[in-house]
Amino acid sequence: MTEQQIKHLTEIKNRFSELVSSKYKKGAEEHGGFLPDKPGLIDMAIEEAVDQFVYLHTLKDQTVLSREGRKVICVDMDGTLCEGEAWTEEAAMNAEPRTDIIEKIDELYKKHFICIYTARGDNLMPATLAWLRKYVVKFHAISNNKLGCDLYIEDKAKRPEEL
Ligand SMILES: [Mg+2]
Repeated sequence: MTEQQIKHLTEIKNRFSELVSSKYKKGAEEHGGFLPDKPGLIDMAIEEAVDQFVYLHTLKDQTVLSREGRKVICVDMDGTLCEGEAWTEEAAMNAEPRTDIIEKIDELYKKHFICIYTARGDNLMPATLAWLRKYVVKFHAISNNKLGCDLYIEDKAKRPEEL
């Protein structure tokens, strides 16, 4: 085992020990004594086991679904999130938002990884970030280099077959 794994195992054992102690104390206060004499205890335990099964299966299904369906989506700035093009700091700060598009990106953000991408230079990044915050655009990353992704949302795009 690596040092990191040994540390992780120690944390898991400590956490387990804390949980058992806490659960034992709570159980002793609530229904301490001879357990077979306590009415309904076995049925409650069975119900809890069923709950665990349902929660774990639901969690597993939802984890697989969210991993399979999650895409990296690059969203352009100029002409997409805002009207026109902004090549100066002033223009970048005062660009008119396309609120209908921003709302749609908000929806996509719930399921996908959103990367804002732009041809704007490094010098315009602070103004671009301030603008994105001002209009509460939800995103995970921003880049002014083209990067690999599953989908580009952009005003000047054309698919090869559309040529
Ligand atoms: Mg554009």
